[in-house]
Amino acid sequence: MKRKVKIEVVNLKKYYTLGKTIVKALNGVSFKVYEGEFIGIMGPSGSGKSTLLYQIGLLDFPTEGKVIIDGVDTSRMDEKTRCEFRLKKLGFVFQQYRLMPELTALENVILPLIMQGVEYEKAVKRGMEILERVGLKKRAHHYPSELSGGEQQRVSIARAIVNNPSILLADEPTANLDTVSGTRIMELFKELNEKHGQTIVMVSHEPEHEKYFSRIIYIKDGVIVNEG
Ligand code: ADP
Repeated sequence: MKRKVKIEVVNLKKYYTLGKTIVKALNGVSFKVYEGEFIGIMGPSGSGKSTLLYQIGLLDFPTEGKVIIDGVDTSRMDEKTRCEFRLKKLGFVFQQYRLMPELTALENVILPLIMQGVEYEKAVKRGMEILERVGLKKRAHHYPSELSGGEQQRVSIARAIVNNPSILLADEPTANLDTVSGTRIMELFKELNEKHGQTIVMVSHEPEHEKYFSRIIYIKDGVIVNEG
């Protein structure tokens, strides 16, 4: 059976100008991500991993090349369409949990639904389902300050998937966590991938994460050095 292509990155370049120097953060990167994959983007610090994730996440514009998501060439979109596309299709998890401190876990999770006009009762039902999926149903009415770092990251993962995104993007999601909490987070991503078929692209520089990924794209100095 032919696997569905979720992301196609074509000759992607991102150059930054710093005074008289040009930093070639991405210098011609091409690859595909298929439905149901759990991709690790790995490589040394400064190799272009975050830049690549930001490009796939449509959070920045490329210098050259394109990103095709679910068959749609995103480089041809205007800003409004791009923004809607991002909200509908992509979920983001960052190093920092970026939760609203004055909202409970549940309210943080359902915020993207409320912003899209989903009815409150419906949003709460969906929010509780997702909190259960990440193992935090009992913490639904707690505030972020009452949760551990690992639990806060679980809330941010729940918020990222509440919309049922086509692709989940994560940038070093365990970087601020102790080893035990970090392992739990990696196991949660693996479960979301294997049990729920969630396509995931994650940036990591931790060698111990390698075993969780179904495929690893190694980059160095802005180019792919290995696509194992
Ligand atoms: P990684 O995530 O692998 O550590 P990055 O993608 O953050 O690498 O950075 C790749 C290169 O691009 C680095 O040399 C970095 O200093 C440079 N870079 C990243 N963002 C910017 C920016 N906004 N302005 C200038 N240079 C940048």
